[in-house]
Amino acid sequence: VSKVYRTGEVEIRAADDVTFSVQKGEFVVIVGPSGCGKSTTLRMIAGLEQPSAGSILLDGMVIDYLPPQKRDMAMIFQNYALYENMTAFDNIAFPLKVRGLKKAEIASKVTAAAEMLKISELLNRKPGALSGGEKQRVAMGRAIVREPKLFLMDEPLSNLDAKMRFALRKEIRQLQRRTGVTTIYVTHDQGEAMALADRVIVMNHGNIRQIGTPREIYNSPADPFVAAFFGSLPMNLWEEDHMICGIRPEDISLSKSFAHGWEKALLLTGYFNGVQWIGEVQCEAGRFTVCSDCEMEQQQTVYMRFTEDKIHRWQKG
Ligand code: ADP
Ligand code: MG
Repeated sequence: VSKVYRTGEVEIRAADDVTFSVQKGEFVVIVGPSGCGKSTTLRMIAGLEQPSAGSILLDGMVIDYLPPQKRDMAMIFQNYALYENMTAFDNIAFPLKVRGLKKAEIASKVTAAAEMLKISELLNRKPGALSGGEKQRVAMGRAIVREPKLFLMDEPLSNLDAKMRFALRKEIRQLQRRTGVTTIYVTHDQGEAMALADRVIVMNHGNIRQIGTPREIYNSPADPFVAAFFGSLPMNLWEEDHMICGIRPEDISLSKSFAHGWEKALLLTGYFNGVQWIGEVQCEAGRFTVCSDCEMEQQQTVYMRFTEDKIHRWQKG
């Protein structure tokens, strides 16, 4: 599918020939920087946005002309989108009431979902009396009880603080494993993508740059953009013989004493991040980010060695 937005004279290619397939039961994460076309892609799948070109198939059937409510997909948004005047129970029960299920059946489904999401004690509260994390659990409950073919999640954790994001991330993964519902999840956070995905789709400027398992993407990035985007520390990139080369900080060994074949470098900065030391070194070849379990002092002379088979090389351009 492609999507072109026209605002006056300006044309924005929000999604440019985006092509991928998702297997039943799979957890796929679309990741990329802000504005790269993630939400546009997800909204086209949901039917909230019409593609400018291309087609979307579900179970082998073209669904281009189906309105969102007939697509059997449940979407979860960053802003929770709960009914403020309804209790958590009624919010979760809402899609079942619309379907005309019996009261007892609704109650049992809502109770089961609430238990799974650890919000059983909160069911009588209205959204105003819930924290961000609790609201998102209610929103997930409302999605689960529908038993949809697809979960679509657009940055569901972005409004939460770091600790809550981490906790809910784990639960979303467990929930998906338990329910087995095929999930397409959108985030700009590479760490979240790595933690959640069976497969990752990396986008930039409306294009897919790479599709692969988290391990494939981390170990064999298709281009310098993907290489630089993944990793909690930035990959070191440099040019050499008309190629772009890269090495991750953890693939550079450091030593305080000289050894044959190791390159001399000056440590410019160093700090402890709670797990290891992160430093910036200057050597003849340039500046590199490095990390080490040993303490690093500024202005110290160190020796470093690149793990040769961990150097990535890409054709320029
Ligand atoms: P992401 O979710 O990756 O941050 P979006 O899919 O929201 O990116 O947006 C992709 C591009 O399309 C951006 O440049 C954005 O400004 C533009 N865009 C999104 N929605 C609209 C719209 N309704 N009208 C015009 N431009 C839009
Ligand atoms: Mg978005």
